Amino acid sequence: MASLDDLPLRADLVGRTPYGAPQLDVPVRLNVNENAFPIADVVADDVVAAVREAIAGVHRYPDREFTELREAFAGYLGHGLDASSIWAANGSNEVLQHVLQAFGGPGRTLLSFSPTYSMYPLLAQGVGSAYVAAPRAADHTLDAATVTAAIEEHDPDVVFLCAPNNPTGTAMGLDVVEAACDAARGMVLVDEAYAEFAHDRSQTALSLLGRHERLLVSRTMSKAFAYAGVRVGYLAADPAVIDALRLVRLPYHLSALTQAAALAALRHAPTMLARVDELRAQRDRIVAELGRMGFSPFPSDANFVLFGGVADPHAAFEGMLADGVLVRDVGIPGTLRVTAGTPEETDAFLASVARLAPSPRP
Ligand SMILES: *Cc1c(COP(=O)(O)O)cnc(C)c1O
Repeated sequence: MASLDDLPLRADLVGRTPYGAPQLDVPVRLNVNENAFPIADVVADDVVAAVREAIAGVHRYPDREFTELREAFAGYLGHGLDASSIWAANGSNEVLQHVLQAFGGPGRTLLSFSPTYSMYPLLAQGVGSAYVAAPRAADHTLDAATVTAAIEEHDPDVVFLCAPNNPTGTAMGLDVVEAACDAARGMVLVDEAYAEFAHDRSQTALSLLGRHERLLVSRTMSKAFAYAGVRVGYLAADPAVIDALRLVRLPYHLSALTQAAALAALRHAPTMLARVDELRAQRDRIVAELGRMGFSPFPSDANFVLFGGVADPHAAFEGMLADGVLVRDVGIPGTLRVTAGTPEETDAFLASVARLAPSPRP
């Protein structure tokens, strides 16, 4: 058997490590921001029926343009969008990859603002683009002046703004998006994977699409829609941007089964999203309880909480794992990240983390 070192691997991939959040079979899994609640039986039945119907036609390739699905996403998003402005792929990670294949690539630069989503550098690497991470403020917020200055300094071809930001949960004002669009000569993508969990859901970059033709807004069914295992992400942008993405996608990239399963779920959007408010409440509860315990949780508009005041994150991670609670060490010193779970999962997390608490606040 060969080792990786024996293979004629692309030089820029030598020594790289793949994405690898642990997938451990423990009772309370709060490490990858999944939706804690399985989809409702009534939706599951409809999805199965739709997939059953679709499978009768799988001797043919699926609709390459996934037109019905694009119409359904346009309807879900609102903001006057129609199918010509919608793209979708197998998870928003693939959507982001399409964007970088079309607008990044060798000799080009992706700019983002760290700490942010760990996949951005990997996606840039995969298409041969340079990745530049400009810093956020100490509290992880991002303002228009910082974004404008970084764009002027680095002259990126693509800018990724994650809002609410993973792994910090930080919200971002629409003035920041506008500033980025005004300053950048390249494409500006706002990754709204957690938009449905925001305190103020009206603050979406979708509202700016009509004004900026180089603005892209990506979303996913993995989080709020509780559909992580199906792999469906999507994006809204000017129809010309969608034409650019057609140049790089593999033919028939969305299987007939994926299209059917996504369409059926979207027909039940209110039911699929029924637990979002419960998760937002658990998220707010985690922030409040961690603060009471003496930790330093960062305000979160997502379905997870990053908290500081962890003396030894590695030891704390292992300690909670021993209690059957899986959280995430995202590599920010003195912090851990936890996903908001069901009330019972959140109870288990809070009981476990309380044992590691710095010191109760007076
Ligand atoms: C989870 C997540 C995604 C979505 O990934 P999928 O490929 O759609 O499952 C995208 N962006 C961020 C910031 C995320 O945290």
